[in-house]
This record gives sequence, structure tokens and C-alpha cells, in this order.
Amino acid sequence: MIPSGAGAPAESDEMDETRAPETPGRLLARLSDPALRPIAEKVLARERLSFEDGLVLFRSPDFLGVGALANRERERRHGNTGYYNVNRYLNPTNLCWVDCGLCAWARKPGVAGGYTMAIEEAVREAAAGWHDGITELHVVGGLHPSLPYDYYTSLLRTLRARFPGVHIKAWTMVELDWIARVGKKDLLETILELKDAGMDSCPGGGAEIFAKRVRDVICTNKIDGERWLEIARLCHVNGVKTNVTMLYGSIETDEERVDHFLRIRELQDETQGFLGFIPLAFHPDGTPFAHLPATSGTLDLRVIAAARLLLDNLDHVKAYWVQIGEKFAPVALHFGADDLVGTVTEETITHAAGATTEAGLTRLEMERLIRSSGRDPVERDAFYERVVRDAEGRVVRANRHDFAPGAPES
Ligand code: SF4
Repeated sequence: MIPSGAGAPAESDEMDETRAPETPGRLLARLSDPALRPIAEKVLARERLSFEDGLVLFRSPDFLGVGALANRERERRHGNTGYYNVNRYLNPTNLCWVDCGLCAWARKPGVAGGYTMAIEEAVREAAAGWHDGITELHVVGGLHPSLPYDYYTSLLRTLRARFPGVHIKAWTMVELDWIARVGKKDLLETILELKDAGMDSCPGGGAEIFAKRVRDVICTNKIDGERWLEIARLCHVNGVKTNVTMLYGSIETDEERVDHFLRIRELQDETQGFLGFIPLAFHPDGTPFAHLPATSGTLDLRVIAAARLLLDNLDHVKAYWVQIGEKFAPVALHFGADDLVGTVTEETITHAAGATTEAGLTRLEMERLIRSSGRDPVERDAFYERVVRDAEGRVVRANRHDFAPGAPES
């Protein structure tokens, strides 16, 4: 059977290209902080913001003014569209030797709760989302101390054969570094072999905050920020797009947040290889930082707004509903975000650190969430092209692939 959607087809969701951004005069008139005015003028003139402008975005008391600037830019780019996709997370192992302080999910070998899926088991797990008409698999895991190199290539090849046309977004820059070390291969050879095996793009995790001061505390054994960017560059120039994230709300300063954004922007100028930016709120429960407060809703929204304004060469700023919650996610679509990420179908990593959101949403629930913000939902594929489904909600076209009857059942 071909992959089917969850429930009835989407309501009319033609992209609203006609929604006019707020006029310059009205935008300027609503700013109460004079420090935002020169930034607004730059935004209106589509000029690049500076490091100092970035600090103002984080420190201005006019929180709604910052949001209005980001919203103008967001509407200029995407009109009234709110994107989402139908994806499934696949975490083949949570065993990891790295021991990041920020992580409540991974387990050391021999510790209760650790698991590693055999390839067939991982494929069965991936197939559990098939009935939802997924168009993307998001594959990340721990840095397993003893899985062989072949595990990674075989898993990709098996997933690719079993789910043709489903986009496989697999392995963060941190995992690519580890897989190359496991295989005793250089990084370029590893990337090319994984790409050949089915890796279509890479998730943006592990970027955390690039600043060494922060990494030395929250993820001391992880590759450093420079290495993360170097691997992303290598992916991009070899035809593998990636996402990029920022973990905020632990011990980082405003300066370190802005520095993170500008390093992303610099690499994007060079490669145009980042598909989108995803801010990740730090969830302290179950970590050595459990004494730290969870992020506030205003910080969540301010980070999204700052990202939209500083990352002027990235098309998509995502609001990850799993992390900021279903109440704030629709609001984020008015603070710079254009994409609520995916239906997810069983998120475990943030939930291990105390997230109280659902582990996944159906397609209709995602659309309802987006409509609740007044935006028009558009189910996108990995290339931000509209997914075509038939009257029963079954995928007809996605990822530049036409789905034929007879695709494998779960
Ligand atoms: S964040 Fe990633 S690398 Fe760090 S301990 Fe968790 S799974 Fe391992």
C-alpha cells in the first residue's frame, strides 16, 4: 500500500503570497525603545545587522518591538505560510561515551535504560510511522563505543531500500566525526560513503553554543565549535545540506548567542548549505544542571526573533513545538518562525529532559496548531516543496519522488 496520511485531507491551504508586510511607518511607530529604531531602519533597507545590533535584540526592553521586526521579515519572506512536515524520529541507540552534561537521554553501556537496535529492528521502528505517510526520517543517536562502521552504512542502505522516496536526514556533525573515527577513514570519504548509502541531508544537532567557554562546561568531550563548522562545510560543498541548531538557556551570555549566530551566517555566506535554523531550549531536568531554571517563554520567542533578523541568508527559522510547547509554538509564527518542524512521531530526547509536550502530533493536529495562529499550514517536504496527497491523505508526491502503489507495508 502507498503511505497514507493520518485522517482526512488538509483543508484548502494555498500559500498566501499576497499578504503585505506591515508598512514601514506603522512598524517604526510601534517601537518604544529608541535603540531598536536604527535596527528597524536596517531591516527595512534589508541591510545586514551587526554584532552590536544582535546584543540590542537580546537586551531591548521592547520585547514586542523585537518580535514585530522579526515578524515583518518573516512575512516578507514567507507571507502567511506556516510550514510543517510529517516525519518520524529514529534513534537507533542511546548508548554514548561522550557524557555531555546537557544530556539526560544517553546512557553509558551497562547502565539500565540503554539500548541499541539491530538493523532490522531499526527498520521495523521506522516502519511504525509508515501509516502516517511520513516523508522524512530523522535519524540520530548516541556515539556508540563499539558499533562498527558498516552498521551506519548498512542501516542507511536498508532504510533507503525499504522506504524509497522518503528523505533520510541522518547523523549530526558530531556523529559524522565519530563514524569516520570508527571506520578509520577521513571525513570526506565517510561523508561520500554515507551519502551513497542513502544519507540525503543531516540534522543540525550538536552545535550547542560554539563558544569554547560554554562547551567546556555543558559538553566538554564533544567536538569543538570549529570542528562542527568544518564538518558542516565539508557536507555542504559535497552536496549534503544540513540544518543548524543553537542550544540556549544554559550558561551562555548574550554575546555568546550572537557570536553563534554570526558564525552560522559566515558559513552560510560561503556555502549556502544550511536548510534551516532550529533553536533548542535547554531542558535541565535529569542533567547535572537541574538547578538551572527552564527557559522562559519570552526568551524562547526572543531567540527565534533574533535568529530571523541576524540570519539574513537562511530561509527558514523553525520553532520546535516539542521544546517550546504547543501553547508557544503558534505564537512563534508571529515572532520570526515560519516552520513548526515535524509531527515527529515519538520524540524521546527532549522528553528525557523533562519536556511535557506530546511525543508526536498527527498531521491534522499540526495543521490545527498552525491555523490557531492565523497562519496557513503547508505540509512541506525536505526541499520546502508542497507535499501532494490524494483524497485519502496518501502521499502522491514528495521529495521530488512520485509514490507508486505497492510501496512496502509496515
Ligand atoms: S548530547 Fe549527544 S554526544 Fe552528548 S551525551 Fe547525549 S547523545 Fe552523547
